[in-house]
Amino acid sequence: MRSLQPGAHLSQSILQKPVTSLRGVGEKMASRLADIGIQSLEDLLFHFPYRYQDRTRVTPIAGLRDQLDALVEGEVRAAAVTSGRRRSLLVKVEDSTGLLTLRFFHFRQAQVSQFRQGAVVQAFGTPRRVGGGIDMIHPEYRLGEGTSLVEAALTPIYPTVSGMGQSTWRKLCRQALSILENNPPVDLLHDIIEDRITLAAAIAFLHNPPPNAELSQIRDGNHPAQLRLAQEELIAHQLTVQGVRDSERRHKAPSIPPASSMAEQFLKSLPFTPTAAQDRVAQELATDMAKNLPMLRLVQGDVGSGKTLVAARAALDTIGAGYQVAFMAPTELLAEQHHANLSAWFEPLGQPVAWLSGRTKGKARAGVLEELASGRVPIVVGTHALFQDDVEFKNLGLIVVDEQHRFGVHQRLSLADKGSGEMHPHQLALTATPIPRSLAMVAYGDLDCSVIDELPPGRQPVTTTLIDHNRRDAVIRRVGAACEEGRQAYWVCTAIEESDTLDIEAAEATRDRLIEALPNIRIGLVHGRLTPAEKAATMAQFKEGQLQLLVATTVIEVGVDVPNASLMIIDNAERLGLAQLHQLRGRVGRGAIDSHCLLMFRQPISDTAQRRLQVLQESQDGFVVAEADLAIRGPGELLGTRQTGMAEFRIASLPEHESLLIEAQAIAVHLYQHHPQKSHELMQRWAGTRADFARV
Ligand code: ADP
Ligand code: MG
Repeated sequence: MRSLQPGAHLSQSILQKPVTSLRGVGEKMASRLADIGIQSLEDLLFHFPYRYQDRTRVTPIAGLRDQLDALVEGEVRAAAVTSGRRRSLLVKVEDSTGLLTLRFFHFRQAQVSQFRQGAVVQAFGTPRRVGGGIDMIHPEYRLGEGTSLVEAALTPIYPTVSGMGQSTWRKLCRQALSILENNPPVDLLHDIIEDRITLAAAIAFLHNPPPNAELSQIRDGNHPAQLRLAQEELIAHQLTVQGVRDSERRHKAPSIPPASSMAEQFLKSLPFTPTAAQDRVAQELATDMAKNLPMLRLVQGDVGSGKTLVAARAALDTIGAGYQVAFMAPTELLAEQHHANLSAWFEPLGQPVAWLSGRTKGKARAGVLEELASGRVPIVVGTHALFQDDVEFKNLGLIVVDEQHRFGVHQRLSLADKGSGEMHPHQLALTATPIPRSLAMVAYGDLDCSVIDELPPGRQPVTTTLIDHNRRDAVIRRVGAACEEGRQAYWVCTAIEESDTLDIEAAEATRDRLIEALPNIRIGLVHGRLTPAEKAATMAQFKEGQLQLLVATTVIEVGVDVPNASLMIIDNAERLGLAQLHQLRGRVGRGAIDSHCLLMFRQPISDTAQRRLQVLQESQDGFVVAEADLAIRGPGELLGTRQTGMAEFRIASLPEHESLLIEAQAIAVHLYQHHPQKSHELMQRWAGTRADFARV
């Protein structure tokens, strides 16, 4: 095997030049890129498209498939601004096979007159069947003969951040690719894996698939270019996992005596007793934490199994021993809920709970940082803002990370560094994501695993029903009747496109419609763009019963806990993955009232989507749902949709690449032991802050 001089070649490679060496990259864009871990040309080249659009041909309107992005061409028949519930511009386009409506909610007056009758228009977007017709909301479009949206090859779509459009990514990558041509990156796996394709060719292929590329092969993740890079990525991931585990085990951690009097007092104050599974897992945590080695433990438990309680006990033991606790959640909404919960539990015990999110600014932020650094508060709840460099603790003893799959190994790691001196805190990760054991071992390879395999007694099963969207009025009546009886309900909206903005528009429109249909019901709305105060106020009103019906985007997916809510409506359920649906359904069935979940779908529904929804109808067990998910989903049902529910990979996708993973594990062990420098470079190459990306 080839051995490498430490750091020798990398600094020489032209690919290590900063992105500012590209045309069109100024200070501002460079800093945006740096925020998401892209500094060099090589970083840019390893930022891969996550899906492709097929604009290689025009689809006849009659041949459009619901929800499947397509390019159409036709003549404008009419264009008009309607001022119904929502002011919008509607453009009727016809080809020789049928009629389509383009729908714009945001538009300028100039656009209206552009669409002259008879003008030829091309539009690319997501077709959606509504009523008897088909429409496309906010398609990309071109007017006039001379120009065309048709492209020779598949169009890459990059994960992005606000302020960076797809055309910018394409322009930058095109430049980087032309440099790549004469300057291939170092093949760190040379001699270790057998290549059917060189690293440089694989990279070039994925950024710019040639016109003759096999679409179905790419869709299935089976192209040699994908396999080559997926393999490398999985090896890098396994190296990171090993490294984390190893380096953590080299540290010392505070020994926390079990069953502190505070934890005992807390348990006595609860209106219920812990389940046997909660007790067993609490015991496992206590045993780990009593040692002076950092605990690295994942607690897996289905939605509603009571993971928070187990974490709270570990937190109280930690505080009882004189150490601090950091409790982190992936979304503001969930973090706020935990903050409210833990405050209610801990403040009677004389333990104040601090709050820190990305939106805690100025004086408030300085105040919290001071309290944490001086040790005046024993516990802080927050979002990934807790990772930031200037957050210091006096003596951090325990980190709790809720919904661990939303965070990367790297992020957890940077919190672990916040221990005092040589001491590292214990780490407890919680997840409801029901992934099969075999995959969990790999995804969370650096963690020991405990399972809460029992739900608190008295939980009523959630009855799940599939219902056609055309029975929406009946559903609305049912919601109204339930609310009149004193029940509470969620109505979750998903837009027809993967876009925050459209999700919110859909939720707002639904709220308006429901207010109209149910004038006597108190209806609220939550979505990701509200300020934390607005969100908190709405959630509090819902929790206290002042609001009876809560319309929401999928922001309520994780952790939201309102036991009196017993009815869940999920609109466009066919568009969501099983894991997400299972999570959403988990928001009801938390109290003693029998609960219902209505999965509303629109025709035509694909076979796979239908099977998915049936799984939910038949089972409420997270593990059964997960196994079925893997079996049904099979290789890439949707182009580039990766829904692993675990560490976010760039190229690799599970279970499609499961066989590569097993090999990757073995290779990683070998590299880790014998080639530390190569290992380091591989990890560097694939490291990054994926969590910040929006998938558009
Ligand atoms: P999850 O595992 O989904 O995070 P939570 O920790 O949010 O579940 O718990 C769900 C609900 O169940 C909370 O209202 C919690 O107070 C309650 N709970 C937890 N443990 C028990 C128990 N042993 N008996 C009854 N209710 C419980
Ligand atoms: Mg939870």
